[in-house]
Amino acid sequence: MADASESTPVRPGAALGLLGGGQLGRMFTLAARNLGFRVHALDPGHDCPAGQVADLEIRAAYNDIYAAQALARGVDVVTVEFENIAAETLEAVAHLRPMHPGAHVLHTVQHRLREKRFLADHGFPVTPFREINTEADLCAAAAALGFPSVLKTASFGYDGKGQTKLLALSDIPAAFEALGGQQGILEAWVPFELECSVICARAPQGETSVWPVAENAHVRHILDTTVFPARIPDSVAQGAQAMALDIARSLDVVGMLTVEFFLKAGGELVVNELAPRPHNSGHATIDACVTSQFEQQVRAVCGLPLGDTTLLRPAAMANLLGNLWPAQGEPAWERLLAFRDVKLHLYGKTEARPGRKMGHLTALADTPEEALAKVLAARAALKD
Ligand code: AMP
Repeated sequence: MADASESTPVRPGAALGLLGGGQLGRMFTLAARNLGFRVHALDPGHDCPAGQVADLEIRAAYNDIYAAQALARGVDVVTVEFENIAAETLEAVAHLRPMHPGAHVLHTVQHRLREKRFLADHGFPVTPFREINTEADLCAAAAALGFPSVLKTASFGYDGKGQTKLLALSDIPAAFEALGGQQGILEAWVPFELECSVICARAPQGETSVWPVAENAHVRHILDTTVFPARIPDSVAQGAQAMALDIARSLDVVGMLTVEFFLKAGGELVVNELAPRPHNSGHATIDACVTSQFEQQVRAVCGLPLGDTTLLRPAAMANLLGNLWPAQGEPAWERLLAFRDVKLHLYGKTEARPGRKMGHLTALADTPEEALAKVLAARAALKD
């Protein structure tokens, strides 16, 4: 059995195991199959986006250790598309096969307090934060950090879920109540000019690669559009790329790491959060770069040489959320496909719910502004 943690790479023809079967897993699977690998995906849902294109779909809960072990036994290396997987499952898998990213990485990033402490302890810039276990903790933390501030659950939060913005002392009781007994973290508000992210990869032998900075716009806490490359000064972009690679090395990530940043006026970067996997803000790499973030995940976790991350042309990506779906049936895709230079990616999800990521659009152009205008026009045509 090949071992990606040793110098022997896992070569095309081998089977790769995937914990999580959502859209990130689907695009990983498609990239892996292009390279001649087989993919076995484990996900609790039926007919999941990755399962539809994988060689084998194992339907099991993430805490089903026996199912995870069965997945591991059938493959040469295991990776994840989702970081919130129980520690016992990760341990059981890592005992049987190389798993990238490692359990130590997932342990750190599964919990906002651990993640922020890791970053602060290693000298990376984060907004001031406090641990919240009681309402008294929250009162003291709000007094120390001031308003506005943001209360988040320490675990299992994404896309703004489990977050409350505090504007005044009077917001504290309801915000604490909303934690529902879970541990929380209060963060000082960051008055940012824009949000951006850097995606990088690190191979088992330590080789790294990084894409240009992505500029992200959110609507109701969910990523709406990404402009690639970010419209920021080169010196700031290089600083963000260097910091992302430093974080990947400090965290000893093998595989992918996404670092989300706030950029303040004056060019100061603050790390918002980490994801040890490909990211929604990197979807434009599929159409716009020599190597996509998903192909790079395959290369990195298999111990193969990393691909070239060069951006071929400025690009933009727009998410397609379930809100665009009519009450019955599918949107009028032919209107969108009439934009002949816009690429449509759908994830195979049958049930469209508001806020659910169903697909995305990518366009390339001579400038990031033109690319953004194209994806927005194409998406707007769906609503007419
Ligand atoms: P998160 O799930 O932590 O990435 O938060 C989702 C979004 O909420 C971010 O992309 C920001 O737009 C906003 N946000 C979260 N934390 C802060 C903060 N401390 N200061 C300002 N905005 C924030």
